[in-house]
Amino acid sequence: MADSSDHALAARIASDTGDMLVALLDDPDAHREGWSSIEYTGDRSAHQFILKELTRERPDDIVLSEEGRDNRARLTADRVWIVDPLDGSSDFGWSDHWSVHVALVENGRPTAGAVAVPGWDTTWATEPTPKPIMSRVGERPRIVVSRSRRHMDGRLLQEGMGAEVMAVGSAGVKAMAVVRGEVDAYVHGGGLYEWDSCAPVAVAEAAGLVGCRLDGSELVFNKDDPWSPGLIISRPEIVDDIVAAMSHRRR
Ligand SMILES: [Mg+2]
Repeated sequence: MADSSDHALAARIASDTGDMLVALLDDPDAHREGWSSIEYTGDRSAHQFILKELTRERPDDIVLSEEGRDNRARLTADRVWIVDPLDGSSDFGWSDHWSVHVALVENGRPTAGAVAVPGWDTTWATEPTPKPIMSRVGERPRIVVSRSRRHMDGRLLQEGMGAEVMAVGSAGVKAMAVVRGEVDAYVHGGGLYEWDSCAPVAVAEAAGLVGCRLDGSELVFNKDDPWSPGLIISRPEIVDDIVAAMSHRRR
C-alpha cells in the first residue's frame, strides 16, 4: 500500500510541475509561436518532467499519462501512477482553471495523489488531509459542471434538486472547488478519462468527500479502457439527490 513517501512524492511532483508550467507562461520566448503552441509545449514539457521524476523515484512503477503511450503492463502491475500533466490545457495562459494531476493506483483504487492548482497557489494532496477553507451557506446546493455540459448536466441538477449551477474548466479545478468548500459538488454526466478524475478523486476522498459514478457505484481505476462514464465528487449528504437527478439523463 501507499506509504507516506508516496503521498509526499505525489504532492512534490504536482507542485513542481505547476511551478514549471507557471515559469513557461512567464517566459517570453515560449510565446513566440503563439498561444496554440504554448498549450502543446505545456502538455509535453509537463509530461516529460513527471515521467522523469517518477522513473527516477519509483523505477518499478508504471505510468499512465494523458500525453504518453499506454503501457499495457499497467494491467497486471501492482502500482500504477495515473497522471494528467496539464488538465484544462485550453485555459492554460487564459485563466486560473488548469491543474496538474498525479495519483497512485493500487488494486483499482487511488491510494495517494495530489492536484496542483497554480492559479490558486495551492497543491492539495492525500496527506496531510485537506481541510475546507470555506464553508457552505445558503439553502440551494451549489454544483459545478463542465462548460461543455452546462445545458445538459446543469439543467438536470437545477430541475431535479434546485441546484445553483456554475461552470468552469478543468476537472481538477472543479474538484478542488468542492474540497475548498466553495461548492457542494462537481458532477460530470459525460465520459472522462481516468487521468481527468483519478487524482481529484484521491484528494476529495481524503478530504472526506464522496467520489463515485453517476449511479452512486464505486469508481475503479486502471481499467483496460481508461475512458469512464460519468463522475460525482460531492459532500456526502447530497450524493443520493445528485444520483436521482442525474438518473433522468438521456443515454
Ligand atoms: Mg491534459
